[in-house]
Amino acid sequence: MGTDAGAETTAQRLALVREAIRAAALRAGRDPATVTLVAVSKTVGAEGIEPALAAGQRVFGENRVQEAKGKWPALRERYPDIALHLIGPLQTNKAVDAVRLFDCIESVDREKLARSLAAEMEKQGKRVPIHIQVNTGEEQQKGGVSPEAADGLVALSRELGLEVAGLMCIPPADEDPAPHFTLLAKIARRNGIEALSMGMSGDFETAVAQGATHVRVGTAIFGSRS
Ligand SMILES: *Cc1c(COP(=O)(O)O)cnc(C)c1O
Repeated sequence: MGTDAGAETTAQRLALVREAIRAAALRAGRDPATVTLVAVSKTVGAEGIEPALAAGQRVFGENRVQEAKGKWPALRERYPDIALHLIGPLQTNKAVDAVRLFDCIESVDREKLARSLAAEMEKQGKRVPIHIQVNTGEEQQKGGVSPEAADGLVALSRELGLEVAGLMCIPPADEDPAPHFTLLAKIARRNGIEALSMGMSGDFETAVAQGATHVRVGTAIFGSRS
């Protein structure tokens, strides 16, 4: 992708990622405006996020509720139009904070969590769209519902009144991601789901070619995490 050569600052790297998304969309015959860049700011402090905000980035992804709670409320006061996506594993006992803090919860992967979120949204009077995370590689250590159980969890979530806006996947690190993206798109299609959150720093162009509506990019924007 070449985002590293000469790109020293967050603003420069962000511009290159945006351009790469745009080019990938055009190559695939897609309107670039149909792809949302979710800038993954996990482990990055508020001062590291500032340059991205200054460059107009408004959609961010965090993988830990506690960390997001520490840095985003203050940033939101200055940038009220921010949209925050939860992309990491969520424990049911954090559902209260997750519903309060996030504008989209991408990592819903089991019935118990869907039930907790539905109850909490009801209580807070706040409807937060969700994505169902699918473990397309059926990896033991990874979150996500298995591909066979995905339709069932989508149906149950809808019955609970949750807005299933999309599906999300994280393909196995050592495999060609394309078949995983294809599988996710297929599951979305048969369930009438619009959004596809797939693709990270190493493979977002492939994901865009396969129909991603959301790409979650961290390292290529903020640099490597220590
Ligand atoms: C960290 C993370 C990303 C971003 O990964 P990069 O390789 O840094 O772009 C995307 N999705 C999820 C779920 C993550 O945890």
